[in-house]
Amino acid sequence: MLVIFHPDATEAQIDAVTERILSTGAGAQRVVGAEQTVIGVIDGDRDHLTSLELDADPGVDRVVSVSAPYKLAHKNLHGAEPNAVAIGDVTFGGPDADFRLILGPCAVESQEQTLAAARACAAAGADALRGGAFKPRTSPYAFQGLGLEGLKILAQAREETGLPVVTELTDLRDIAAVLEYADCVQVGARNMQHFPLLTELGRANIPVLLKRGMGASVDDLLLAAEYILTEGNSQVILCERGIHAAATPARSCLDLAAVTVLKEHTHLPVIVDPSHAAGRRALVEPLALASAACGADGLIVECHPDPTHARCDGPQAITLDALDGFCARVRSVAAAAASPAAA
Ligand code: PEP
Ligand code: MN
Repeated sequence: MLVIFHPDATEAQIDAVTERILSTGAGAQRVVGAEQTVIGVIDGDRDHLTSLELDADPGVDRVVSVSAPYKLAHKNLHGAEPNAVAIGDVTFGGPDADFRLILGPCAVESQEQTLAAARACAAAGADALRGGAFKPRTSPYAFQGLGLEGLKILAQAREETGLPVVTELTDLRDIAAVLEYADCVQVGARNMQHFPLLTELGRANIPVLLKRGMGASVDDLLLAAEYILTEGNSQVILCERGIHAAATPARSCLDLAAVTVLKEHTHLPVIVDPSHAAGRRALVEPLALASAACGADGLIVECHPDPTHARCDGPQAITLDALDGFCARVRSVAAAAASPAAA
């Protein structure tokens, strides 16, 4: 942590701040510049130092953190190798994992619709099946999902195709049911900072797909992951799905720089959801290819047997007959990006 003083800070003010730092047991290294004095705080207890709120002290211009606020999500504290997380038998991230594809409808609408989608996803080489039984909708009048019935349909689809199931948990009251049926629990963008939900999932032994909130920074996302990790569950996969940006022509602005930055800072696998960022079908594949090119560990993509009549997110759903070509092209870009020549 660095404490930077105003150019007109007095010696007494700098001494007073130094005393407060030393009182926590940390060291204080003073650097006197031509215009400003800076104190480097050494070996301190971060939480104790933060609680001092030194930026409000007289003479202080600002306080800058040097080390990352998250600990367990941080690469350095884990070792050099990225962490692999398995959904069913399928490994995401880690040194040897292939590029992974989670495919399926936005929402489970019926047995017929979900099984048709699941069969096509399996045939196209999907690694896991997605489908929401509990849908977090902006409007309370929109389709909210089939709930428990939807979870049972997903279990049938898994039984028939062998694909592990990724499904969203939106409400703590449904956690037992979702844990019973899911192979991976999705926490959606709207719930990224639903801390009690994260804490409970941290106590469960199940992979969690944590999506970045529309207005969340990379640090916010990693701190949300920390809520899960700190409870003992290390099976967290992060997902970039686009952030709010008024100037984007798409539904959300897919922040692919965040994928690279996340890979720099954390050992956790990082996948991308191009569907919710795109908002319409024509944009999904270009964003998916770009995601594969920029080093993501995989994708989660929506598809539907009859997008025109979908009850949720039809305009962005890929049709089932397009899945084969889509998967082949995305996998070939991912392979090119992973080849040693590209490194
Ligand atoms: C979803 O995956 O269906 C979904 C609602 O995504 P997000 O939370 O990213 O909006
Ligand atoms: Mn959706």
